[in-house]
Amino acid sequence: MTTGSCLCGAVRYEVAGPFDMMAHCHCSMCRKHHGAMFATWVTAPAAGFRWISGQDNVASYQSSEHGHRYFCRTCGSVTPTLMKEMGIVILPAGNLEGDLGIRPQMHMFADSHAPWYPITDALPRHPAYPPQFGGGAGVERKSPALRLGTTQGSCLCGAVAWEFEGAPERVQNCHCSRCRRARSAAHATNAFYKAEQISWVRGKDDVRSYSLKGTKYFGQDFCRHCGSPVPRVVAATGRIVVPCGSLDTSPNLRPLGHIFATSKAGWFEITDGLPQWEGYPARA
Ligand SMILES: [Zn+2]
Ligand SMILES: [Zn+2]
Ligand SMILES: [Zn+2]
Repeated sequence: MTTGSCLCGAVRYEVAGPFDMMAHCHCSMCRKHHGAMFATWVTAPAAGFRWISGQDNVASYQSSEHGHRYFCRTCGSVTPTLMKEMGIVILPAGNLEGDLGIRPQMHMFADSHAPWYPITDALPRHPAYPPQFGGGAGVERKSPALRLGTTQGSCLCGAVAWEFEGAPERVQNCHCSRCRRARSAAHATNAFYKAEQISWVRGKDDVRSYSLKGTKYFGQDFCRHCGSPVPRVVAATGRIVVPCGSLDTSPNLRPLGHIFATSKAGWFEITDGLPQWEGYPARA
């Protein structure tokens, strides 16, 4: 049995496996909904899936004519999609514990990846859906009107939008277990801005904020309608933590490297050649 849970722990589930398919998805919907640069999904037979707790804490957002996205209404973590008619459950690998006995097999929607965040491993890359899913273009999120000279971001449903003046102080990938659970992904990619750099364009009142108990600053802010992670203002530090998957344009700064690299998911391999640190890098 493999168990999974959201960041706050309200939603918990178990799945017997075996896992049949594991894929990184770079589609614009996944990037928004996870706030990550890509999502990693695994599938298993639905018959072996069971909610342990919190099924009534799962919210859903209809992202397209046939597509729904599910998330914890308390913390914004992505939760599994049960496709009973197909007999499968699709799970966000970042929320699962332990060795899954499977490794990523491919990239899907590789053509949709953020241009500033290249794919660097040798796995097969499918432009959109892979042939075993019948190919097909899928449904992408409409990109918003872009304004030159700012870095823009918005949630999947578009209710929350913001922009940044100037470049972030740094961008880094974080592999700690909290980030993996929060983003429901292999790792977080976060940009750090000063509080005064953000302008909320709309929807600030639609942002829900979850603070993880027992930590100083850790938490997740997300859109209450669609669950997408959005910028989190940390008052104590005067900094804003931005889940880079939410960005509509490049932050104009390459990631510094990988922090908490020794905490990374066993199924994920770092292949981009950037520096890796056990915890935080030494501050210059
Ligand atoms: Zn939760
Ligand atoms: Zn996707
Ligand atoms: Zn939204």
